[in-house]
Amino acid sequence: EEIIKIKNIGRKYVIGTEVIHALNSVSLSIQKGEFVALMGPSGSGKSTLMNILGCLDTPSQGDYILNGTNVSHMTENQLANIRNKEIGFVFQTFNLLPRSSALDNVALPLIYAGINKKERDERATQALINVGLEHRLHHRPNELSGGQRQRVAVARALINNPSIILADEPTGNLDTKTSIEIMGLLENIHSGGNTIILVTHEEDIAQHAHRIVRMRDGLVEDDSLIKKT
Ligand code: ADP
Ligand code: ADP
Repeated sequence: EEIIKIKNIGRKYVIGTEVIHALNSVSLSIQKGEFVALMGPSGSGKSTLMNILGCLDTPSQGDYILNGTNVSHMTENQLANIRNKEIGFVFQTFNLLPRSSALDNVALPLIYAGINKKERDERATQALINVGLEHRLHHRPNELSGGQRQRVAVARALINNPSIILADEPTGNLDTKTSIEIMGLLENIHSGGNTIILVTHEEDIAQHAHRIVRMRDGLVEDDSLIKKT
């Protein structure tokens, strides 16, 4: 089952008289349940592609079919709806609300989904148990270690049962040991049937995925499956 299909997408930025082709002609097919690492040098178009995949941006040309729906020409409001339903985001800098507890951070997307407080708290508690943080429900982000913060962010990303998890350098602010723990967590989530797309600069981190897509100059330079030994 194909969850992502992009066909010859381009994205250009026009600044004054200069036109920057951030994506030239990128085609990609991702099946439900794949774990894909997106790599490539700085400026190769990874963020631009992730923004399009996450429905934060639309291509200047070509089509993006997400779960059977063409989202290439949607309005801001339509994209926001798709994002809330289909996409879970994990960031390098965690992006948690500093004054809110782990529980409230994880429950937040459920407010937008119109779910009552009792159910929000139950589901957020379970999500935090699932990432091993049952003893940290009422801690605020600055009372948690980096790895624990990223676990909270992963729980938040999963809370709406999204079709896809997009993780942009999720280990970029973590030490090696903690990075391996977070990758183990993503592997568990992948084993549960989730589709994950991960941007990383680190080959060791990318090896946790099953497929590596390498970009250069706004093009896919290589797309290979990883042989697990
Ligand atoms: P990466 O994430 O691989 O570092 P990006 O997608 O951020 O690459 O950038 C691809 C190219 O597009 C770069 O040349 C970058 O300077 C340019 N670019 C990215 N975002 C913008 C923007 N908002 N406005 C203008 N140029 C941009
Ligand atoms: P870890 O060893 O998991 O990387 P730390 O060494 O940062 O974590 O912290 C050890 C434990 O103390 C963690 O479980 C964390 O939740 C808790 N902790 C750390 N800083 C604070 C704080 N400022 N207030 C309350 N608890 C904290």
